[in-house]
Amino acid sequence: MSYQLPAALLNSLAGLPGYNRETFEQVHMAAEKITSLRLNPAKTGTPEIAQEVLQSLSSSGVSKVPWSSEGYYLPARPSFTFDPYFHAGAYYVQEASSMFLEQAVRATVDLTTPLKVLDLCAAPGGKSTLLQSLISPDSLLVANEVIKARAALLSDNITKWGAANVVVTNNDPRDFSRLPGYFDLVVVDAPCSGSGLFRRNPELIAEWSPENVTLCSQRQQRIMADVLPAVKENGIVIYSTCSFSAAEDEEILDWLASHFELENIIVPLEEKWHIVTTVTNKRNCTGYRFYPDQLKGEGFFIACFRKRSGESVRNGKAPKPTLANAKQRDVMAPWTNVPADYQYWQHQEEILLLPPLLAAAMPFLQQQLYIRKAGVKAGQPGAKELIPDHQLALSGLVSEQLPAVSLELPQALQYLRKEDPGIDTHVRGWALVKYKGMSLGWAKFLPNRMNNYYPKELRILKEITGL
Ligand code: SAM
Repeated sequence: MSYQLPAALLNSLAGLPGYNRETFEQVHMAAEKITSLRLNPAKTGTPEIAQEVLQSLSSSGVSKVPWSSEGYYLPARPSFTFDPYFHAGAYYVQEASSMFLEQAVRATVDLTTPLKVLDLCAAPGGKSTLLQSLISPDSLLVANEVIKARAALLSDNITKWGAANVVVTNNDPRDFSRLPGYFDLVVVDAPCSGSGLFRRNPELIAEWSPENVTLCSQRQQRIMADVLPAVKENGIVIYSTCSFSAAEDEEILDWLASHFELENIIVPLEEKWHIVTTVTNKRNCTGYRFYPDQLKGEGFFIACFRKRSGESVRNGKAPKPTLANAKQRDVMAPWTNVPADYQYWQHQEEILLLPPLLAAAMPFLQQQLYIRKAGVKAGQPGAKELIPDHQLALSGLVSEQLPAVSLELPQALQYLRKEDPGIDTHVRGWALVKYKGMSLGWAKFLPNRMNNYYPKELRILKEITGL
């Protein structure tokens, strides 16, 4: 794979803050692969569990991502596919520079209050899972992705993460103009020309052209213009790309500050992070550049604004939801551990568990957006028992009292391949299948076999070698 960077790119970056052509080219030629991940605090909440998960990935050489509270570098890339913790949602494999979103969020919003947050360009879910870990449980995250197949992947990753306070939508940015002044925080991790990822994915180099940078820049303006009405007065907008090009970074900030009532916000940096501060020519907006030759991460750009004007939400009349009846709730009671203020919504044959702010928002969101997933799907209550859903198994709402079968690594991988690991157990009927205390999914144990309810579309397809 060639790491020869386009001359037009290198020339266009001349003069940008922090750009050093020599070291920039060298670091791309060296082609070091950096592996980083972010732990899921909801599943690795104690130092012992966090340590165990990291140890299982690498016995030594793990270090902290300096600007992230849950981010770690691994000395080499393990096979995440063959790690049950990965499938249990114990961590998300995320590029280190992007984890700086945490600092941007902490610098701009009060995380102790209930917030309505939109992640507009969310698939596959790196920023969404980070946002979810930062906001309070009584906040609401709308994770949106315009491309249908990618929205499905986003949904799966949100299910794995296990949180109840997330709605996954599949809408075009312009649809959000139907929610004027709705969100306290909007994150736009915009589609871009991708030069920041050339070291990691050199196959992207061939797709780069100055014309594409211009197209991306125009699209970024369109996306921002479409979504800005959905930000409330004094709400926050965070804009990011993985492009080095000023047309997609500083020039977008100048364009935003010139066309909208936006006040740029500074994010405090530590010098030892080696993140480069950039100030735009026209409107003095500050943004942050991440160069792979200066820090341990890929190329990234981020900036924050406060919206100085805003319309207010007009919540029209929305249809009332159908709630689960007393019998259905009785059937579900032994399976779940749900806070008292949650709502139980009936959706077709299934029951959704929704935290209060999400339940209050849903009738309106359902009218305006195409919802792919909301809260936690508990399953289908029958006359006597629940047919439990995978979402419940992976969530924090599943009862700790349920029968569970713990598997060692080889059997856990067989389970994740949707095979029958042939376990000798006294457990009969429905049970959670666990790996070192973390739920992987459901199975039904019969006298001579196990029915594996791991979702077919999520099963491991790769051949296991060397175990
Ligand atoms: N935020 C994601 C994460 O951290 O995992 C990565 C997002 S990626 C940089 C940009 C996303 O924007 C892609 O998922 C892409 O499908 C989506 N996208 C592409 N064209 C778009 C458009 N016109 N409007 C909104 N989103 C678009």
